[in-house]
Amino acid sequence: FVTLDALVAATARSKPDKIAVIDGDRQLSYAAFNDQINRVTAALQRDGVQPCDSIAICALSSAEYVVTFLGALRAGVAVAPLAPSSTPRDFAAMVQDCGAKLLFMDTFAAGAMKEAPLPGDLRRIAFDDSSAGAPFSAWIAAEGTVPAPVTIDPNSVFNIIYSSGTTGTPKGIVHTHQLRWWQYGQLDPLGYGPDAVTLLSTPLYSNTTLVCFNPTLAGGGTLVLMKKFDAKGLLELCAKHRVTHTMLVPVQYRRIMALPEFGDYDLSSFVAKFCTSAPFAAELKADVLKRWPGGLIEYYGMTEGGGSCALLAHEHPNKLHTVGMPMPGHEVRLIDDDGNFVGPGEIGEIVGRSPVMMKHYLNQPQKTAETFWHDAEGNRWVRTGDIGKFDADGFLMLMDRKKDMIISGGFNIYPSDIESVLTKHDDVLEAAVVGMPSEEWGETPVVFVVLQPHGRIDAQALKDWTNGQVGKTQRLSEVVFVDSLPRSAIGKVLKRELRDQRLGDQR
Ligand code: ATP
Ligand code: MG
Repeated sequence: FVTLDALVAATARSKPDKIAVIDGDRQLSYAAFNDQINRVTAALQRDGVQPCDSIAICALSSAEYVVTFLGALRAGVAVAPLAPSSTPRDFAAMVQDCGAKLLFMDTFAAGAMKEAPLPGDLRRIAFDDSSAGAPFSAWIAAEGTVPAPVTIDPNSVFNIIYSSGTTGTPKGIVHTHQLRWWQYGQLDPLGYGPDAVTLLSTPLYSNTTLVCFNPTLAGGGTLVLMKKFDAKGLLELCAKHRVTHTMLVPVQYRRIMALPEFGDYDLSSFVAKFCTSAPFAAELKADVLKRWPGGLIEYYGMTEGGGSCALLAHEHPNKLHTVGMPMPGHEVRLIDDDGNFVGPGEIGEIVGRSPVMMKHYLNQPQKTAETFWHDAEGNRWVRTGDIGKFDADGFLMLMDRKKDMIISGGFNIYPSDIESVLTKHDDVLEAAVVGMPSEEWGETPVVFVVLQPHGRIDAQALKDWTNGQVGKTQRLSEVVFVDSLPRSAIGKVLKRELRDQRLGDQR
């Protein structure tokens, strides 16, 4: 068992000049990075923050953020990275839930959280030395300070990640050092070695980002931080720093691939691109494979861990409609509503187990109990709330979230089936199918569509075109054009917002 900060310290000794973090014009060598980590650890110790306490960070990605994250780990202190896009109320609830001893912020987050009802005596530290708190440069211990060594218990908390809240209030998901360590060993064929230059454009409070942040640092690679995503800016950074790895969510791939100047950038340095978190259309995967050098790996999984699958798209170009096969060490099965494993080829709720399952939801024994499911032999599995089916070759096809499934006239309709037809239409940029209440059918599918800039088709024509290609029970009752789809900060479509908005409009 080795901790992440110990691996960073080892690289600082063997390759002190190697670049660890690039943040705009600033570059931190491993030696400088390790020194700053020590200074954060020492400052936490000076301030009486104990091993097993926690700190909260709410900020855009920056060198200070990364240093503080690692400095806390070295001190045995758990990190709760929080989203600046949270509502002020959720934010205050999360700060309280994780019991943060210190809160690290920047100008951006402090502005967004102005109204948050935080305890008045909670100390705040401002990464950018702004009025968001005490200046970080004054808080951090002096250069060259060596902190008191801390022995890390492998079962102690590494981080608390709050779930995206796509389907409800965010839940604090607890990951231990042991579990994260196991993940570094998951270096797949296109994994992050010492030559990795990983671009991070998704936020650090999301597991989506941490699944490439952790192994890049563990492998002695370089992190390139992008504070706010824009498609062109990303391609510029990739070409400038000869990026080898990146993790992007599907909506980012869509924006990047739609850029007319995509072909002008030299992306030949790429080894692997990753994707996770939301449905990734097969045509879009095919386009990425065709025009963007290097491999493409899609992960399916959840922050809670357990049922993770991976699709090595470059090796299986005929399986782009799936999310691949269970990752090494992971078992993935399907269960029916009565809690029995389903037979081959049948549909069911995805459950998974592996050494990287969360410990529990913080302060939520009830939710924890609901999420873990026990089979007849007493094995513990995580329920994903997603519905899927295995094909004959053992590749997992995702149908939808259980909560998004539409039951119309007694038939189960998976919105993703209809969405994948719609996005094949040239005029359609994005589509989200939602079940709306219907007196006749119980629920009926309605689609919210964002047209391409050149799209001219009208609602009736698009409805007829779609209904001509889907099953009889899947026919749309209505097509609604919108300018954009509501999304969470990590790019997931917020279907409950679409539903609530529409119900409000109809009232
Ligand atoms: P909350 O649990 O708060 O509602 P969330 O489930 O969106 O939020 P995450 O843990 O970030 O929080 O996301 C896991 C979910 O994301 C999965 O259960 C699945 O629905 C979806 N997902 C993950 N990977 C993929 C993928 N490759 N394709 C489609 N959907 C995916
Ligand atoms: Mg979830």
